[in-house]
Amino acid sequence: MKLAELSQSQRAQVERTKQVVAELHALLPAWELVVWTAGNVSERVPGTDLFVIKASGVPYEGMESAHMVVCDLQGQLLDDDASGLAPSSDTAAHAYVYRHMPEVGGVVHTHSSYATAWAAIGEPIPCCLTMMADEFGGDIPLGPLAIIGDDSIGRGIVETLRNCHSPAVLMANHGPFTVGKDGRSAVKAAVMCEEVARTAYLARTLGEVKRIPDDMIKRLNDRYQNVYGQH
Ligand SMILES: [Zn+2]
Repeated sequence: MKLAELSQSQRAQVERTKQVVAELHALLPAWELVVWTAGNVSERVPGTDLFVIKASGVPYEGMESAHMVVCDLQGQLLDDDASGLAPSSDTAAHAYVYRHMPEVGGVVHTHSSYATAWAAIGEPIPCCLTMMADEFGGDIPLGPLAIIGDDSIGRGIVETLRNCHSPAVLMANHGPFTVGKDGRSAVKAAVMCEEVARTAYLARTLGEVKRIPDDMIKRLNDRYQNVYGQH
């Protein structure tokens, strides 16, 4: 697909999404979820089969919308993109998620320390906090060890998330991927994932981590998703 094939309003929507995604990237170092050029945020472009993601190897300082690129749902850069930038090396994983999870509008990937420590020992984070029941609806699951660059990371994310309520998955020996209705909610899930990973780690150093019973997790999650907050 080519940028030139988009309508004027679609092209304007691409530019707006680049602005949003650039601003969301600033939240990753602000919440200490990334170092150097690691990590990425993507978001669907409304009204199109496209998404915006960070270009590969761009540092966070000085990052702006011009460092964002637009791809189709196969993860291919639009043909006439003139930026000269290559999309993030995680683009194939983001594209796979968008192709297979139509309800997802945003994807985030980091190597945030505590969540990645759980990924390194190959354990899901047990649902031991009410805020985990609220935000994740259960354990934060462990996905498979997968190779970067083909569909295997995306497939591992989708197959793991399909079987639970969690918007976060810890890819084994790698780190967390999170999803949301848009980029901002996927960033929120990444921040919350790191927060509960840190608390669960601290809890384990004190003693046995006590998982909340399933029926209580369900009640907490129902209440949080349906009652809490502004409507
Ligand atoms: Zn990674």
